[in-house]
Amino acid sequence: MAMVEIQDVHKFFGELHVLKGVSLEVEAGEVCTILGPSGSGKSTLLRCVNVLEEIQAGSIHVDGILMGYGQDAEGRLYELRPKELAAQRAPIGMVFQRFNLFPHMTALENVVEAPIKVKGANKSKAKAKASELLERVGLAERADHYPAQLSGGQAQRVAIARALAMEPDLMLFDEPTSALDPELVGEVLAVMQDLAASGMTMLVVTHEMGFAREVSDTVVFMDQGSIVESGSPEDVLVNPSNQRTRDFLDKVL
Ligand code: ADP
Ligand code: MG
Repeated sequence: MAMVEIQDVHKFFGELHVLKGVSLEVEAGEVCTILGPSGSGKSTLLRCVNVLEEIQAGSIHVDGILMGYGQDAEGRLYELRPKELAAQRAPIGMVFQRFNLFPHMTALENVVEAPIKVKGANKSKAKAKASELLERVGLAERADHYPAQLSGGQAQRVAIARALAMEPDLMLFDEPTSALDPELVGEVLAVMQDLAASGMTMLVVTHEMGFAREVSDTVVFMDQGSIVESGSPEDVLVNPSNQRTRDFLDKVL
C-alpha cells in the first residue's frame, strides 16, 4: 500500500459537493504537489486526510491505517472519539497558510508544546530536540523570540519545526507561502526542499510553480472537486493534456 491512499472520496458541505470522487496515491518518500484554481477543493482534500473534515464516501488510508476509524475487539469499525483521533493524527504534520503559532509562547516553546502535551515526551529531551529542529530550519538564534518578533518567513519556518517535532511520517502543506511577502517565500521553500530531500513524504498545495517543477515527484491538477490531470511535473506542467490545466497554467506562468 502507498503511504497515502485516497480512494473515491466524496465530500459535501450541506448541498455543496466539494470533492467528487477523488483518488490519489502518494508513495513513501515522495512529494505530491496539488495545483488548481481557488475553490477547487485543495484545502478540503488536505483537511480530509487528517480528518479535520469528515468524508461522506470513499476512504483514506495513511500508512495503512483507515483514517477516522478504529476497530473494536471484534474487529468492527467504529468512528474514533476525539482523543483517539488526536493519536491517529499524531504522525501527520500540517502547515497552513497562516502560521498559527501560539502568540504567547516563544519559538522554542511553540515547538516543544505538542511533544510534551500530546506525546508525554520528557521535557529536557523535547527541548533539546526542539533546539535541533530550530537549527535545522535556520532559526537557532530566534529560539527565544515571540511570534510577533518574527518575520512571516521565520514564523512559517517555526511552524514547520513545530510539525516536525512530532516526528511525522507525512507532512501536509496548504499554501505555506501564500501569505508571505515575496522576498520571504524562498527561505520557506528552501526548508521544504530540504525536507523533501531528507525523504519526507509530502502533500503540498502551492502556487509556486518552481517548487512544483523541481521538487515534486507527482503533480496533480484539481478543478471543481475532481483531479483532472496527474503525472510527472513534466507531463502536467510542460505537456498538459487537459484544456483546464492548460488554461490554469496560462494564467499562473
Ligand atoms: P481551495 O483550497 O482549492 O481554494 P477549498 O477546499 O477551500 O478550495 O473549498 C472548496 C469549496 O468548498 C469552495 O466552494 C468553498 O467555498 C467550500 N467550502 C470550504 N470549506 C467550507 C466550509 N467549512 N463550509 C462550507 N463550504 C466550504
Ligand atoms: Mg485552499
